[in-house]
Amino acid sequence: MSRAHAAGALWPEMTVLERGWLSANSVLFTGPDAAAPSDAALVDTGYCIHAEQTVQLVRSALGTQPLARILNTHLHSDHCGGNAALQAAWPGVHTAIAPGQAAQVRDWDAQALGYVPTGQQCPRFRIDATLQPGSDVSLGGRPWQIHAAPGHDPHSVVLFEPEARLLISADALWEKGFGVVFPELDGEDAFAEVGATLDLIERLAPLTVIPGHGPIFQNVAAALAAARARLAGFVQSPLRHARHAAKVLIKFKLLEWQHIDACALQAWTEATPYLVQLHARHFSQTAPAAWTTALVDELVAVGAARREAGQLYNV
Ligand SMILES: [Zn+2]
Repeated sequence: MSRAHAAGALWPEMTVLERGWLSANSVLFTGPDAAAPSDAALVDTGYCIHAEQTVQLVRSALGTQPLARILNTHLHSDHCGGNAALQAAWPGVHTAIAPGQAAQVRDWDAQALGYVPTGQQCPRFRIDATLQPGSDVSLGGRPWQIHAAPGHDPHSVVLFEPEARLLISADALWEKGFGVVFPELDGEDAFAEVGATLDLIERLAPLTVIPGHGPIFQNVAAALAAARARLAGFVQSPLRHARHAAKVLIKFKLLEWQHIDACALQAWTEATPYLVQLHARHFSQTAPAAWTTALVDELVAVGAARREAGQLYNV
């Protein structure tokens, strides 16, 4: 299910489109001068199955003004899955991504981009430029700083407007936590990078955070403390992170499917490389079907899923 609505008109030229968890939030900027050529820009574009909704939201906000630019904080499928549809709707739109994956997008390497390992979808899109950390990008007529924010994703950036101290944090910091630390699923140590990115956010000292998921928040100190406590738990027990990651991957697909037959879910988990890797690395003492059942049990126990007559339903 997707609840898309405009939230938090912090500035007249900026609209936050808060989405459900399958699609990341988008931030839409219009130019500061209505008479000037359009410089409307959209940061992050949601998941592909919501792409038409994303196009409609942008179209209804912009009216006859065209979308001039797309920016992606990172290339997870829930942040750039609307790129292709937006590029089809506004063929002249300029698209900028965080650096590091430009060649993979140009060659459309769905393995390297993570869509194959996660079992997620992302329609192919084109890119025009990269967002270089250390430089600024103009959004709504104001300069926003681009900062590298590795951890959740090694290539992610966050965007910071220093005058209002407003941060677009992507999946580096949410009000309650942060995104799965994906490099860890490939066996790469990345918890230290998560911590360093939290330190960066603390140094930037934002007053307001627009996260990749969930509502805008202002109690940044509490969010940072909660994130650090969560990170400490993962550092202490990487197994806990592995288990969390496996449940997130299943819940994400359940959000996409809405409901799924138990056998089809099992087939999907056994065909999804990250889940296969997680099982092999951390949970090989348990048979794959029993492992999936245990993960689903945990999702059901916390009210994130519901079982009924051999089907699993999203809640
Ligand atoms: Zn992400």
